[in-house]
Amino acid sequence: MKRIYITNAIPYVNAAPHVGHALEYVQTDCLVRFYKLLGYDVFYAAGADENSLKNVQAAEAENVPIQKLVDKYAKEFENLKSTLNISWDVFNRTSHRHHIAGSQKLWLRCKKEDIYKRKYRGLYCVGCEVFYKADEVKGGVCPDGHTNIEEVEEENYFFRLSNYADFLGKLIESDQLKIVPQTRKNEVLSFISQGLEDFSISRSVERARGWGVPVLGDPSTSSGQVMYVWFDALTTYLTALGYPSGNLYKKYWTENYNRLHVIGKGIIRFHAIYWPAMLKSAGIPLPKTEFVHGYITVEGQKISKTLGNVIDPFDLVGKFGQEAVRYYLLREIPAWGDGDFSIQRFKELYNGELANGLGNLVARVARLCADTKLNLPPKKNFKFKKAVSAELENFRFDRAIISLWGEISELDKKINQEKPWELQGLTLKKTIAPIAQEIREIAFNLSPFLPKTSQKILDQFTGKVSAQDPLFPRI
Ligand SMILES: [Zn+2]
Repeated sequence: MKRIYITNAIPYVNAAPHVGHALEYVQTDCLVRFYKLLGYDVFYAAGADENSLKNVQAAEAENVPIQKLVDKYAKEFENLKSTLNISWDVFNRTSHRHHIAGSQKLWLRCKKEDIYKRKYRGLYCVGCEVFYKADEVKGGVCPDGHTNIEEVEEENYFFRLSNYADFLGKLIESDQLKIVPQTRKNEVLSFISQGLEDFSISRSVERARGWGVPVLGDPSTSSGQVMYVWFDALTTYLTALGYPSGNLYKKYWTENYNRLHVIGKGIIRFHAIYWPAMLKSAGIPLPKTEFVHGYITVEGQKISKTLGNVIDPFDLVGKFGQEAVRYYLLREIPAWGDGDFSIQRFKELYNGELANGLGNLVARVARLCADTKLNLPPKKNFKFKKAVSAELENFRFDRAIISLWGEISELDKKINQEKPWELQGLTLKKTIAPIAQEIREIAFNLSPFLPKTSQKILDQFTGKVSAQDPLFPRI
């Protein structure tokens, strides 16, 4: 059997989820459903990044214990599973004991010569959880626009990334680790070609306020060190499977099948550079594919709390319905780039493509089928249309949907030419039956994108076809 392990990046749970998180979940879920329908054995892991300094500061600001804060927000992220109909198998939280033990195990498995201690001085951006060089922080502002920069001087553990530049260059150039889209692959290769510096993989317990994964066997300081949040966060992809032991880990990570990370463009260096180097050092197989999606703006502006334009996915689903939100994110946000969320555009697409395009066609054909008492046998061996599978294998959700809606308008055209409503009896039946079959094919192809709508149509067009309430009432 073919097999694939698919993961989401784990968000910092220092605030409620926004529409950008919803995008990643919906895209990933679409892939998971697609591969399952192709007959793959799929395991899908999501989770929460709970050990960051960001979370510590958010807890201080809200004046609650850190664990309580991450519990609260992790729960909200977990709730997106039912709100958006996401099918992850596990939601892995990094403050949980098995993850801490797994991260410590990975650290100890890295080659001895790859981890060393040295005194370090640098500018740490808590917003990014990244050390910057002095010339990258202009006027106290990091390249990403954060202002909470701390000047840090301490003794830390470092990872000898400089040893891995050649290895990583070849790995990515040759697509042994395939990065999609190509523009992101080029970005990583150009970053590697400028030379890689060793990076700090721990911080002092004081600076971490005692929060995080303790570095085992660190005798040199009285207070000890905790892991740099990215070191343990990346390990989520292993601990979600029960690493270092367990059947899932063996089955989905160590055997020679595809391992796919779905991530946002802001964290590509961690995934395409740090992570494969850490795994190589530890003698553990690497991921095989990384799909990098873009960011969402809202009405043309960057999502920000200060602008007050954060779109709450729970509200959105409450207003327009789960399937319509899935549709917008997959159809309207360019899969390989950035996109915009606009309420006006949402309504346009909803009325134009869901209510009119798909909804009308289904209602129209169902009525004609009902008139002629058409009875359709159950069908099992549906197939994905070539265009849909080719686009989905390339992570082009938007183009897959657009090609399907092309088929919908073709079918509309066909009906308008054949005018079945002017026919009667056997002629009507003969004309409408192949159209009803084609609707079932389209419904099956909709399944990864709009699973509930797909099922509704398939149910409606099996056995005695009946006219029913509109799939998407106009707004
Ligand atoms: Zn920053």
